[in-house]
Amino acid sequence: ADIDRFHAINEAMGHEVGDRVMAEVAMRMSGEVGDAGRVARFTGDEFVVALPGIGLDEAVAVAERLRHAVAQPVEISGGEVLVTMSMGVASYPGRVADIDDLLRRAEASMSRAKQLGRDMVCQYSEADMRRMEDRRMLGMRLRGAMLHGELHLEYQPELRTADRVVIGFEALLRWNSPDLGLVMPERFIPVAEAMGLMPALGGWVLDRACAQSRAWMDAGLGDFFVAVNVSAQQIQRGNFADQVADALQRHGLPADRLELELTESALLENADRALHSINQLSALGVRIAFDDFGTGYSSLSYLRQFTVDKLKIDKSFVCDLPHDPSSVAIATTVVAIGHQLQMSVIAEGVETAEQAQLLAEIGCDALQGYLLGRPMKAFAVADWLA
Ligand code: C2E
Ligand code: MG
Ligand code: MG
Repeated sequence: ADIDRFHAINEAMGHEVGDRVMAEVAMRMSGEVGDAGRVARFTGDEFVVALPGIGLDEAVAVAERLRHAVAQPVEISGGEVLVTMSMGVASYPGRVADIDDLLRRAEASMSRAKQLGRDMVCQYSEADMRRMEDRRMLGMRLRGAMLHGELHLEYQPELRTADRVVIGFEALLRWNSPDLGLVMPERFIPVAEAMGLMPALGGWVLDRACAQSRAWMDAGLGDFFVAVNVSAQQIQRGNFADQVADALQRHGLPADRLELELTESALLENADRALHSINQLSALGVRIAFDDFGTGYSSLSYLRQFTVDKLKIDKSFVCDLPHDPSSVAIATTVVAIGHQLQMSVIAEGVETAEQAQLLAEIGCDALQGYLLGRPMKAFAVADWLA
């Protein structure tokens, strides 16, 4: 069981209040469990409840009672604090190897409770375990994959809407594993992030993309940029702008041949540092795009704080065009906001001619998607351009 958003309580009300809330939660849990079992603080704001001699259904019922008890307002001098917990329930034996395994299962179920919206009890399921095993397995192989050259970049074209001229290519990471086959970034990047591998992996991507951009420039293939996705950890750690400046210099690449795609989550954690990095990058002459725009939190306040050059309308807003009126309204509004703020706007995930048509009508500057070109290996780009 884990207290939901405990750091927010600490931040908003101070650690003293946080400590008292923690103590109160512990009291309530042990009060509710009584002689039927044991409550232990595991780490930080995580608790483990051991209930010997009862079945899974009964354990879930206890967890629901605990969740209810914790959710009652906590009286703090001068007011009330509301806390909730997310809980996962697993049982032993039942094909569980040992206590570590049992804990891992409970933890996997708990993280699903978090994902499903918190303040919730989830029972162990095979699917949770598979997801967790998958992450562990990928995690163990990822370092090796980096060392053994199993990673490569594919490039997907971005086209100017008006005349369909290629303005750039987005570099997208792929992992071709001898025993797992092709692994897509949505599966392994979260694992790399959790393992702290993203600064290294992202540095490799930046280096390869700059090398490729320079090679295309030397081959006289045209006047376009290469866009690189940047993860939160790259912005948060070390001096990212220096790394970018190094990469540009190493490959003799003009700054306007590189674009960096940031997401709101990359800016969220440490806004001051991110702001500093963005200003330095802009000073270098590198263009910055806001990726997955509209899918995170507080997009509009970020637009005011951070000057970026480009907005990417997330594919989730593009896929239901032109039939879904809300999607039309959102796409139209994003284009208007972008243009008002002197930014260009691109739509990603464009798959049909009708989508492209509508995006052209509302003034979207550029398009990216399977309709216009799929991600491809670097060597295929010259042919594709011809
Ligand atoms: P993203 O940056 O938003 O990239 C766009 C994704 O949409 C890519 O998926 C691309 O293949 C896919 N896509 C393009 N056109 C279409 C279309 O017409 N229809 C549909 N359904 N999808 C389309 P991909 O390559 O699987 O990448 C997924 C995400 O992984 C990326 O989303 C990005 O967030 C992350 N990623 C990929 N490469 C890197 C990287 O080098 N570094 C970091 N930090 N993240 C990366
Ligand atoms: Mg992107
Ligand atoms: Mg995107």
